[in-house]
Amino acid sequence: MKIGFIGLGKMGSGMAANLVHAGHRVTVYNRSPAKVEALVEQGATRASTVAEACRGDVVFTMLADDTAVEDVVFGADGILAALSRGATHISSSTISVALSQRLTAAHRDAGQRYVAAPVFGRPEAAAAAKLFVVAAGAPQALEPLTSLFDAIGQRTFVVSGQPAAANLVKLSGNFMLASVIESIGEAVALVGKAGVDPLQYVDILTSTLFSAPAYQTYGGLIARREFEPAGFTATLGLKDIQLVLAAAEELAVPLPVASLLRDRFLALQAGGAGHLDWSAIATLAGRDAGLNHPA
Ligand code: NAP
Repeated sequence: MKIGFIGLGKMGSGMAANLVHAGHRVTVYNRSPAKVEALVEQGATRASTVAEACRGDVVFTMLADDTAVEDVVFGADGILAALSRGATHISSSTISVALSQRLTAAHRDAGQRYVAAPVFGRPEAAAAAKLFVVAAGAPQALEPLTSLFDAIGQRTFVVSGQPAAANLVKLSGNFMLASVIESIGEAVALVGKAGVDPLQYVDILTSTLFSAPAYQTYGGLIARREFEPAGFTATLGLKDIQLVLAAAEELAVPLPVASLLRDRFLALQAGGAGHLDWSAIATLAGRDAGLNHPA
């Protein structure tokens, strides 16, 4: 398939490379042009503008946040203006439910297709084509995309005919991950202040009651205090908790734990540590207990 890929950050670079390796003709664009080089070396075609990346059947976006997606879609010579009628925009960024609904309407009005396909998995999983894809959109739009999702991930879940439902599922998953990080941080502060080795503690818990990937991945990062380089920055984590709270407010669903997490991310950001991995919020419980601050 002829594909455009816009956004070659930590996640997008691996996803685009796997589409190339799967035999698709991939044209890549990134705001900072230097990131395009590595993909061109692997067989992708360089696009100098967003519009040049929109000449195929499909264009992926994997961008930081709502503002980035709005710039790239609605800007002059953006996706909305450049994509052919009948072609599909696959939005894999973690964006708001409200923006996904706006994109659904805008692409429909332009005679284009729009599918939300946010992903679970960190940059290592993106590079290894081991993402989990949560897809939603009209069945006739989703059906031709199966091989693309197979190229970037290990499993695809189709959740709804409404694209925004996939964004809500993704955001709810990140809320649960942040809750896990916070609870590990509190538990490690507790046992750590009493002199128990955090590495052994996490090993005990993740080999017994909590043997799920979320606990293993984040328990390890927290016990080793391995917050740089970030796989997923605390700045993006704050963004996701804010988006969860916005969606919850719209649906009138109180999320008291998410409100606490928002303050944790704000505190980390305010302390100049937004560039750290989002698991660094786990250290704030230690700080509150008189232990060391990470930044
Ligand atoms: P990242 O490394 O910070 O990359 C962000 C990308 O967005 C870069 O290509 C950046 O371009 C581009 N961008 C930002 N603002 C822009 C703008 N105004 N106009 C055009 N391009 C813009 O982020 P990431 O970790 O790959 O995450 C990308 C998305 O995936 C986010 O929505 C994130 O929440 C989600 N996600 C991340 C993970 C993870 O573990 N990292 C996992 C699942 C989902 P430049 O290179 O020019 O800055």
